[in-house]
Order: sequence, then structure tokens, then C-alpha cells
Amino acid sequence: MEQKRGIAVSPGVAIGSAMVLGREDLRIPQRFVRVGSVDAELARFREAFATVCAEISAHEKVASERLGKQYGAIFNAHLQLMQDARLIAEIEELIHKNSFSSEFACSRVLRKYAKTLQNLGDQYLASRAADLFDLEKRFLRSLAGERREELQQLNSPVIILAHNLTPSETANLDPKFVLGFATEAGAKGSHTAILAGALEIPAVVGVGDFLGDLSGGDMIILDGNAGLMIVNPDEDTLTRYRNTAQRAETVANRLKLLSHLPSQMKDGVPIHIYGNIEFPTEVTHCTDRGAEGIGLYRTEFLYLGEDDDPSEEIHYEAYARVLRAFPKLPVVIRTLDLGAEKFPASMQKVIDESPNPCLGLRGVRLALASPPLFKKQLRAVLRAALLGDVRIMFPMVATLREFRQARMMVQDVAEDLEEEKIPFRQDIPIGMMVELPSAVQMADHFAREVDFFSIGTNDLIQYTLGVDRSNPAVSGLYSSGDPALCRMIQTVVQAAEQEGIPVSVCGQMSSDPMYTPLLIGLGVRELSVTPHLLPEIKQVVLSLTLEQAREIAGHVQTLDMARDVESYLRGELKKIAPDLVV
Ligand code: PEP
Ligand code: MG
Repeated sequence: MEQKRGIAVSPGVAIGSAMVLGREDLRIPQRFVRVGSVDAELARFREAFATVCAEISAHEKVASERLGKQYGAIFNAHLQLMQDARLIAEIEELIHKNSFSSEFACSRVLRKYAKTLQNLGDQYLASRAADLFDLEKRFLRSLAGERREELQQLNSPVIILAHNLTPSETANLDPKFVLGFATEAGAKGSHTAILAGALEIPAVVGVGDFLGDLSGGDMIILDGNAGLMIVNPDEDTLTRYRNTAQRAETVANRLKLLSHLPSQMKDGVPIHIYGNIEFPTEVTHCTDRGAEGIGLYRTEFLYLGEDDDPSEEIHYEAYARVLRAFPKLPVVIRTLDLGAEKFPASMQKVIDESPNPCLGLRGVRLALASPPLFKKQLRAVLRAALLGDVRIMFPMVATLREFRQARMMVQDVAEDLEEEKIPFRQDIPIGMMVELPSAVQMADHFAREVDFFSIGTNDLIQYTLGVDRSNPAVSGLYSSGDPALCRMIQTVVQAAEQEGIPVSVCGQMSSDPMYTPLLIGLGVRELSVTPHLLPEIKQVVLSLTLEQAREIAGHVQTLDMARDVESYLRGELKKIAPDLVV
């Protein structure tokens, strides 16, 4: 048995036999064509070009139909890349002037651009290089007259193991046969990772070299929650995971029945549970599981796969789609949280060149530094707000001045729309994410000016403990159980209570059932969670009284180490909802 650790990008456990996709080292040697054959070679290239364009358009259609326009946009971006006149001219020139073979010319030009992206020292751009490698593969396959057919021909369930999966391959995976996938390469936030999450296929990426040690048919356990891949597990491990998977399935089936029950504690205290989404298509994951609305719509994902800033209409359509699914329930639209690791190519001009992007131009700072971009989004939000109960939320607010400036921007946009006689809604609640220690410290002041708070524990933990959780050297320090975080939540809740404004928690902490009693005990009455965890959180809510939750929170406040908080809360969860403890 061998255990390999990677990056968990899509949750769930899969057990099955491996299907190993060839590493496809497509680097091709320098090859020439005879001078007299150059024209024929150019024609061959153009034919391959047309095939590849048609193939990408087909992928765009499939992804748009299955997952929505935002996913289709990934392939639209590929198409635009492909149709870049300079790129094509460069390839044709190599064939024409240097008599290179089409394969070699394509490979050389696409790899040159991919390497440039990789070497810019920017994680986002480096991950976009994968899109160019995707194009290179397509070209080479088309020129060689072959395709990676295996994926289209599955007729029994497998776990896919590959060096990497391209976004197009991922969008076409059939969850009926693909139980999960693990890749040697890949990163959090890559298109492949995002697509896996949207398809709800368990996935672990960035595992490092493993293909050499494996063969098709090997038994694999893929733990998309912990980011683990276990190869040829021993009997004990297999039994443990099988039991876990079986229990998870039984629990999931049982939990489905809870989706229509009102979300209230045993003693009748209502706890509102909302969904977190990145794409409009995910609304169905939320409605199916009984969400009471959307507590966090991460709109920056509208930029995924786009070369240009999305137009006001693209923004509007996305918001309208979410609001049509929830016409009567709250939908919290978080304004763009671009920056740090979330940089689209189109934002190159406003990228903070800081060597430390997490402390640079991101979230509301970036929005305030680019008024046209920010106003475009706000116009669409205000217009779409006519369709439902929209709330606007600003990310990464550090100071009162920023909040006031951002709110002023909403006012400016409202005045513009009024002047232009474009219908919009005026009375939209405006709130903020509390995800920086400065916002916690000043929460009493903020609470007098904002309509609601939403605590973003993902960033709050990172900025409080000074820990980048994607850095394995320090990720052990990253814990929702840290006593410092507990105190911060308490401060924010007290400030909100004082001014009578609602406070929710929308970071990952609220999606972990272990922390539900603590959050409720600290006074939180609204949780916004990853869609597939909605039923689990609801189960804890239904199984708990307020008094119990307060007692649990009271005990946690006596503890001074994350480790102790975690083990205490795990023990309590075991008593409240034993089947949720793995
Ligand atoms: C957070 O920081 O907790 C949060 C919800 O925002 P994001 O994960 O999008 O940074
Ligand atoms: Mg955040």
C-alpha cells in the first residue's frame, strides 16, 4: 500500500480501479519537410487548424449546455487564443520559411508562449499556460489523426489517473463512469479544479510523479476531502474507507430528506443556512438541498476564461440567472474579489507588482482602484436587483474609509442609472466581509454603518495567524479551531448585536459540521456553506438546542490551543450527530 498526498480540489471519497492515461509526452523532435512540400504542409496545418477550432467549439457547446455559459467561456477563451492572428502567422512562417513540419512549428510557438506565461512569476498566469499546452495537444493529436479516445469510451466505473487533465477533458468527464481523478500536476483554482468541483467529482491534483509506479487496474482510494490517493490499499484501509463511503452514502440519502424541513434548532431557534456559489449553475445544487438563499456569490469567477472584462450584460445575465432561481430569498452578491491568486489575464494592467500579492491590490482595494470595472459590475447588480432580494457585499474591507468609498460608488452608479432612465432598485442592503483583523478590531464602528457582516474565516485565519494554507510548511498552523479566531468571531457578533445587524459566517469553517455548535453558541444565526454540505450542517442544527450550543462555546473559550478545541469539538459532534464523524 502506498499513500500519496496532493491538493484536495473536489470533495468526496471514491474507491475503484485505476485507469491510467498515458503521460503523452508530446515533445516532438525538430523535423523538416522538403522544400517542394511546403505548400502541402501549410494546407495540412490549416486543415488541422479548422479541425481543432471545430473541436473547441463543440467543447464550448457541451460545457455551456452541461454546466452553463461561464464554463463554456473557458473554451471560448481557447478559441480566441487559437484564432490570434499573430500566433497563426508565427506558426505559418516557421513552416513556410524554415520548412518545419506542422507538428514542430505548432509545438514550438505554443510552448514558447506557455513558457513565457510560466516564467512571469505569477501563479495565475502560470496556470493559464495549461491552456496553451491544451491547444498544443489538440494540434498534435489532430495532425497525427488521433485523439485521446479512452475517455470517451468508458463503459465501467474508474478512477482516472493522469499527468494532467485539460479543462476540456474535465468538462467532458461523465460522472456516471468517472468516480474521481488524481493528477500529478495541477493547482487549486485551476480551471480543471473548478470544473471538477462543479461536476461534484472527487479530485486530488498536484500529487507529484506517480504514473511511473502505477498501472491500469490498480485499486485506488481517492480521498477528495483530505487530498489523499491510496494505491493498492491493505485490507484494513480498504474496509475502513468502504465503511466510510457506505456510511457517507447512507447518511447523504438520509440527509436529502432534511432538505425541506425548516432549519431550526431542537428548541425552535431558527438558523438560516445559505449556499456559497462561484457559478450561476450551482444554484440548483443549493435549491435541491434546501438552501434559504445564497449567502456568498463569488462573482470574480465571471472572469474565468475571459480575455476581456465581462460586459455589463454578462454580469447582468449571471446575476439574473441566480435571482430567477431564488426570486424571493436573499442573494448576497459579493463584488469582485480579484487579486492574490485570482487574477484574470484581462486585469494585467492593474496587477499590483508586489512580491506578496496577498498583501497587495485585492478585493475592494482593487475595485476602488479601477472605477470603470467596479461601476460596470455595480450597474448590473442594481439592475438585476429588480428581480429579487439582492444584497451587496464588499470583500477585504480593511478600513472605514474603504467601505464608505465603495458605498459611495454604489450611490454614484444609482445616480447614473437614474439619469439614463434605466430601471434599477435603490434600497439594496450593503454589507461587508469581515476577513481582516483590522475589520474585527473596528467592528463596533463598522456595525454602525453597514447593513450586515459576513465573516470570511478563510482569509481571517490566514491574516490573523500569518499562514498561507497552501504552503505545506506552515499549513499545520491553519485551523478554524484556533482560540484567536474564536475571540474574533465573538467580537464581531457582539458588535453586530449591539447595532442590531445580522452576521453570518461564510468561510469554510461554516461548512464543517464540527464547528456548527460553536458558531451558534457564539451567537451566529446565519451560515453560508458549500452546497454539498448543506444537509450535514442542517442535521447538526436540527439535533442541537441553543443551551447545548452555548455550553459548548463556553467550554471552547476556556481552551487555549487549536488542537484541544478541535478534539473537544469532534467529541461533541460525535455525541450530537455520530454519523457525521469520520
Ligand atoms: C473567506 O475568506 O472566508 C471567503 C469566504 O472568501 P474567499 O474564500 O473567496 O476568499
Ligand atoms: Mg476571502
